Amino acid sequence: MNKKVLVVGAGLGGLATALRLAKKGFKVEVIEKNSRAGGRLNQIKKDGFTFDTGPSFFSMSYEFQEFAKDCNIDIPFKFFELDPLYAVNFSNSPQIFHMHKDIKKLAEQFKDIEPEFEANMVRYLRKSGKLFHDTVDLVIKNNFDSRFSYFTTLMRVNPMHIPVLFRSFWQEVMQNFSSKEAQQIVSLVAFFLGRTPFDTMAIYTLLSYTEFQHDGYFNVEGGMYKIVEGIVDELKKEDVKITYNTEIVSYIENNKKLDHLVDSAGKKWTADVVLVNADAAVFRSRIFQRKAYSATKLDKMKWTMGYLTFYLGIKCKLPQVNHHNYYLGTNFEEYANNVQQNPGSLQKPYYYVNVLSKHNLECAPEGCESLLFVCPVPNLHYKPDWGDKDSIVNSIITDFSKRIKKDIEPEVISKTIYTPLEWQNQFNLHRGSGLGLAHNMYQIGAFRPANFDEKFKNVFYVGASTVPGAGLPMSIISSKLACRRIEKFSNS
Ligand SMILES: Cc1cc2nc3c(=O)[nH]c(=O)nc-3n(C[C@H](O)[C@H](O)[C@H](O)COP(=O)(O)OP(=O)(O)OC[C@H]3O[C@@H](n4cnc5c(N)ncnc54)[C@H](O)[C@@H]3O)c2cc1C
Repeated sequence: MNKKVLVVGAGLGGLATALRLAKKGFKVEVIEKNSRAGGRLNQIKKDGFTFDTGPSFFSMSYEFQEFAKDCNIDIPFKFFELDPLYAVNFSNSPQIFHMHKDIKKLAEQFKDIEPEFEANMVRYLRKSGKLFHDTVDLVIKNNFDSRFSYFTTLMRVNPMHIPVLFRSFWQEVMQNFSSKEAQQIVSLVAFFLGRTPFDTMAIYTLLSYTEFQHDGYFNVEGGMYKIVEGIVDELKKEDVKITYNTEIVSYIENNKKLDHLVDSAGKKWTADVVLVNADAAVFRSRIFQRKAYSATKLDKMKWTMGYLTFYLGIKCKLPQVNHHNYYLGTNFEEYANNVQQNPGSLQKPYYYVNVLSKHNLECAPEGCESLLFVCPVPNLHYKPDWGDKDSIVNSIITDFSKRIKKDIEPEVISKTIYTPLEWQNQFNLHRGSGLGLAHNMYQIGAFRPANFDEKFKNVFYVGASTVPGAGLPMSIISSKLACRRIEKFSNS
């Protein structure tokens, strides 16, 4: 076989496909804009601390198992299950809800506010579990050559699921739970898709099943970046070269075929097959200059929110804080309806805090903690100016200090802030949108930018803005789908 594949981008999708292809005998080379691999799944090492920059846990661990099996390797990192999955606190109450997978343990915490919680949760998970099992292989883990083949596949899905196409995540949750606490906590997972429960389709309630029942959430020993280091080590064994600090900026075509790509230093890159791990819509827009992806059209598409992330090294321990924590206010609906477009929503932000050093002592100096804060914010389309980032960050630190009854402000000895501007500039994310294209009806399946190019037969795509979508397990599935396409193309 020995066809040469050039992978543009060393995010998880690019790395995983590179390994799959190398194992199948392709000659693979990777180029990456930044000075290190991982893309959004990255790491900051600073002032003696280690921080995960973006992803802090993953679901669907069996996708990583399947990936390792396909590549005939042991999973190249160690991971462990989280219990509780995460903790949630509302600003008007000292209570902390611990999200256990054990439904009885979980229900115990709702006994005063929703006595029928256990039965509600069992019913809700039964339904979302059915939705998951009826769609995962057929729709999520499948390539579609055309919209027609997508529709014929959808017609094979059990018709009992049709109503979830026309309901929002929030409506579905409202039908199942009576207390506002349960409704808000169960619908938090919609934010993991980069939108809110009010504009996320009820189909995605299947995520509740993946988090609470099917598999749960997992952490990686030593931090999430071990995933990247592990795959990069496996790529070295296969003689796959990664060239860093190399950004593709244009291309040359010949007779309607891609002749070569050109990097910012003017160097030409050729291969039999090109796999693009850069954002599938942005690359078509900026590099291939496609009309369907013009700057105006790109802005008309629905994008996920931006993220304000900051990384604090503090010189004290926080035994009262869990590993994964959500801090919510008291105006959920108003907040969710404003967070994507209205910078004013940042006056009382909702946020997530991850304490990496809780299970990974080596990630902070002795007696210290390494903290990642993630706050959903409007992307650069709605808030282009981040001159106020320090005051927003300070307001979150003040709120967090109040909730945990410990002023951490004087304890901070390391601070790094990424606004959507940094996310955009580092990884070429459209308007700093954290998770890429949103997952609405017109941007999923055969409606999402395809993983094969419309014009160049030897160009394919992998990652969050092509099929199936955002998140680490989806990148792994995406690599399987792209690999299938490349093998088929190479054998034709
Ligand atoms: C703040 C945050 C928190 C998250 N938390 C979680 C979580 O807890 N769990 C989870 O499962 N997911 C999480 N995600 C989502 C997850 O990080 C992404 O879905 C996933 O990492 C995307 O991988 P990818 O392969 O699509 O691409 P990317 O990671 O975007 O990689 C693409 C690579 O291509 C490079 N590139 C771009 N353009 C070019 C070019 N022109 N030339 C050369 N190289 C180029 C980029 O530099 C980048 O390295 C989070 C995301 C963010 C932003």
